[in-house]
Amino acid sequence: MAAQTIVILGGGIGGQVAANALRRLLPAEHRVVVVERDATHAFAPSFLWLMTGDRRPGQIVRPVRSLLRRGVELVTAPVDRIDVSGGRVETGAGGLAYDRLVVALGAELAPDAIPGLDGAAQTFFSLDGAARLRDELRSFPGGRVAVVVSSLPYKCPGAPHEGAMLIADTLRRRGLTGKFDVHLFTPESQPLPVAGPALGGMVSDLLAQKGIHFHPGLALASVDGGNRRLEFKDGTREDYDLLVVIPPHRPPAAVRGSGLGNEAGWIPVDRATLRTLHERVYAIGDVTAIGLPGRWRPEVALPLPKAGVFAHAQALAVAKRIAHDITGTGEAEEFCAGGYCMLEAGEEMAGFAYGNFYGEPSPQVEFRKVGKSWHLGKVLFEKWWLTPVGLRRDLLRLALLAGGRASGVTMEL
Ligand SMILES: Cc1cc2nc3c(=O)[nH]c(=O)nc-3n(C[C@H](O)[C@H](O)[C@H](O)COP(=O)(O)OP(=O)(O)OC[C@H]3O[C@@H](n4cnc5c(N)ncnc54)[C@H](O)[C@@H]3O)c2cc1C
Repeated sequence: MAAQTIVILGGGIGGQVAANALRRLLPAEHRVVVVERDATHAFAPSFLWLMTGDRRPGQIVRPVRSLLRRGVELVTAPVDRIDVSGGRVETGAGGLAYDRLVVALGAELAPDAIPGLDGAAQTFFSLDGAARLRDELRSFPGGRVAVVVSSLPYKCPGAPHEGAMLIADTLRRRGLTGKFDVHLFTPESQPLPVAGPALGGMVSDLLAQKGIHFHPGLALASVDGGNRRLEFKDGTREDYDLLVVIPPHRPPAAVRGSGLGNEAGWIPVDRATLRTLHERVYAIGDVTAIGLPGRWRPEVALPLPKAGVFAHAQALAVAKRIAHDITGTGEAEEFCAGGYCMLEAGEEMAGFAYGNFYGEPSPQVEFRKVGKSWHLGKVLFEKWWLTPVGLRRDLLRLALLAGGRASGVTMEL
């Protein structure tokens, strides 16, 4: 096959993994090009530790270039338009023709979508927001903290629960026990509804143990920042002293105009191949909409959660499929939605949820009780992710050797 150009839109979790895997799998004559508007990448799972003061921004931000393999071309510019019929994308640095396209543009935060919300609330869903909230938590005198999932869908179904538990932990560490309470409001019927009632019950128990008041079934309608009051769609009103929101999410602007999206703008894909309705165009990660067995009825409409763990696995599956199409070697792998999540609970402990999200008749997800090792696993993954790509193998080698020494097992590397 003649030399091909594979363009990947977005250099976040899905985009980086797809680009690095393609570069590894494809001969050098084929181009792998990433278009990313930001020169730096911030690792979102660590925003929670930035909020608690356990990380500084410099520890969780890296140049995108350092996270991409040599031979991956990086265009640092915004994607303005995707022209699927012409096989081109328009970027701030000019036009780019592709043979295969992978859309990995994530989701945008849209605080303006709820009246009164913008400017009235704190958030740990962005780098700057998490740093501002850290400062607020350092001076908060006590009172009622409202953590609010403002609308669906949102990324990382565990994050609001982690955020509520870590805020409580941070305030306790400041000696404010008895002077504050944390309330978690969500339009969902239970924690992590996609994982089913049994797991939801376990997370509810965990929240209760940590002193978090959980309020399901409440969809935010507006915020009265002057009077520090929330109004929900069913007429319920709640007061707060500190408001922390998971802002509404919307598809990125470039996707909204592309014709790739569904009515809401998210990109529907074949759940195994991640192919869109357009030949040679794939989409992965938060920008996609994937229905789940047993959970995708109009009245529940629970899609595959937007999470880095899925963006990562989807990126690998798409890269292998594209490489197989081009070279005729390797396997055309399918994405099978195995996923996991370390749920930070405070005091350097975490729970662990894992399972098969394509399980029949509905996703099968289990929860392991809170312990130190899950927290350590999350820290190790963070270190690995933020290590320049050329040094990751060495880091893994060291970890395996150290693990081998500690356990008395010799490993061949
Ligand atoms: C607080 C928090 C905690 C989280 N914790 C976890 C966790 O523990 N586990 C987990 O699995 N997931 C977690 N997530 C979710 C995870 O970060 C996302 O699901 C993941 O980043 C999705 O990957 P993606 O590639 O689809 O999108 P992103 O990683 O968001 O990448 C999208 C990229 O596209 C770029 N982009 C957007 N528009 C344009 C444009 N027009 N032009 C050029 N570039 C553009 C963006 O700059 C970005 O770099 C967490 C998220 C948050 C906010």
